[in-house]
Amino acid sequence: MSEKFSTDSFTKEIKGLLIDPLIFTFPFNCRCNGECCHYGVYTDLKENQFILSIKEKIFPLMDETQSKEIKDWFEAPEEDEDFESGVAVGTNVINGKCTFLDKDGLCSLQKLAMQEGAYKWKYKPLYCILFPLTIYEGSLTIDDEHIDRLKVCNKQGGVQTTIYEACREELLHFFGEKDFAELEDYREHYLNKIMIGEVNGTKN
Ligand code: SF4
Ligand code: SF4
Repeated sequence: MSEKFSTDSFTKEIKGLLIDPLIFTFPFNCRCNGECCHYGVYTDLKENQFILSIKEKIFPLMDETQSKEIKDWFEAPEEDEDFESGVAVGTNVINGKCTFLDKDGLCSLQKLAMQEGAYKWKYKPLYCILFPLTIYEGSLTIDDEHIDRLKVCNKQGGVQTTIYEACREELLHFFGEKDFAELEDYREHYLNKIMIGEVNGTKN
């Protein structure tokens, strides 16, 4: 997250999170094969324990570039108030990619859900689903620091949409229908404010 991050101008709160209105205007396209997974992800302690509890189902989906030693899968837990349980556990990077990413660029956790015919994000950590959005200091915002350090992410030409449009399905998943409808209303309200020149819709 950029050092200048400030929630001072965030006026809307939904589901206990302040909403960074930049998500409605930030240009974005998502067209690579998961470079964001090369750095691993922070999971909530509950997600970490859930993943470990289904390890026997994950093993067969891993290839020779991944470790089947569960002690290799996660970093040490650390306190972090932006996670539901107050504790974050990072996935380790093995062979230059998240421990759960296979050599074909597919997430073993999502592969498991698909193989079972279950909802595709059943086993996937929340912060994987949300990226390039993230939750930081109690706000739903853009993980601009991670986007910036990735070589391909959002750097390809062609048609761009907004990060909000690119992540609509993910936001609906995260907020649920009622809160997502409130977010849609807030977006409409915010975009109207841009049209009448009350805000400029950019960071500065
Ligand atoms: S979010 Fe960025 S890094 Fe991840 S798949 Fe999309 S373009 Fe690639
Ligand atoms: S858990 Fe899956 S989606 Fe998340 S970073 Fe690792 S490989 Fe990518």
